[in-house]
Amino acid sequence: LSLSDTVEAHRICVCVRKRPLNNKEVTKNDIDVVSIPGNGTLLLHEPKQKVDLTKYLDNQVFHFDYSFDESSTNDLVYRFTAKPLVQTIFDGGMATCFAYGQTGSGKTHTMGGDFSGKSQNSAKGIYAMAAQDVFALLKQRRYSSLDLCPYVTFFEIYNSKVFDLLNKKAKLRVLEDEKQQVQVVGLQEMYVSCAEDVIKMIEMGSACRTSGQTSANANSSRSHAILQVILRRRNQVHGKFSLVDLAGNERGIDVRSSDRQTLVETAEINRSLLALKECIRSLGMDSHHIPFRMSKLTQVLRDSFIGENSRTCMIAMVSPGMSSCDSTVNTLRYADRYSQK
Ligand code: ADP
Ligand code: MG
Repeated sequence: LSLSDTVEAHRICVCVRKRPLNNKEVTKNDIDVVSIPGNGTLLLHEPKQKVDLTKYLDNQVFHFDYSFDESSTNDLVYRFTAKPLVQTIFDGGMATCFAYGQTGSGKTHTMGGDFSGKSQNSAKGIYAMAAQDVFALLKQRRYSSLDLCPYVTFFEIYNSKVFDLLNKKAKLRVLEDEKQQVQVVGLQEMYVSCAEDVIKMIEMGSACRTSGQTSANANSSRSHAILQVILRRRNQVHGKFSLVDLAGNERGIDVRSSDRQTLVETAEINRSLLALKECIRSLGMDSHHIPFRMSKLTQVLRDSFIGENSRTCMIAMVSPGMSSCDSTVNTLRYADRYSQK
């Protein structure tokens, strides 16, 4: 089975996006070690040292369905990743789009967009563009007769605990019934009547996500944020689009100098990202056993993994700097393995 067969048959798309070097990196004379020649490939030029201490560049090639270089806009990335998945939920399927990568690599920029005004390229994110396309399709005649009602949920998973971002970070329980249906008890599901409603929810939830945060404990980067657009038909779920801004997968957290909380967080994040990899891999192999109970993250996304008509897209974000090399290699290996299996 070739790579493209696997991707086609199981509808898993894996992409990589490189952000530009930022001012801080430029100031520190960090150098760009990532190049994107196109056609879904990415080259990493990792500086290494031989035993005799001579330095050399270890060039490694990674392959993806698409690779986006530093000049790509959110709009372009959206068109090749999440946009085709909007159709899936109208056809009664489950769609899931993940943003993966170390803190600072561009996950929130890609998913939530950048309206801070601090960045030069203030841009809409995948959340907002997907919301607009959902409402555009709802208006089409072939779907308007289905009487689909759109709802939104927005929540966060931090240290295996679920918090409702649309309800003052209320802590919620996750239950599984005898039919293995997973329920987040009490999760607010808000009816939305237009794309602007969704954007308001996203702004509200994002503000809630980062509130009470100090720079020493920026736990939004240590949590997974999940935005779901749910289409209901006669109160039954018809389709669901989950857009996931994953917790940072950074390498190089110093075990000796880190406090206990950081170590617990890191262990939890690694565990849940491993679980995610296992679940997506078993999707790709058409396995009947999907280990979604391995983590809270995969448990709440169970529907995404079991649906007959489900589609998954993973966007791996990389920082271009040499100083990020360890995390970048980690990200590329994680994502590259999906495409090979
Ligand atoms: P993460 O969510 O992965 O921690 P962010 O999305 O917050 O990272 O990005 C870190 C910084 O880099 C932000 O200031 C963001 O505006 C900037 N940034 C990220 N990706 C891009 C990009 N493709 N183009 C320009 N700036 C970007
Ligand atoms: Mg972020």
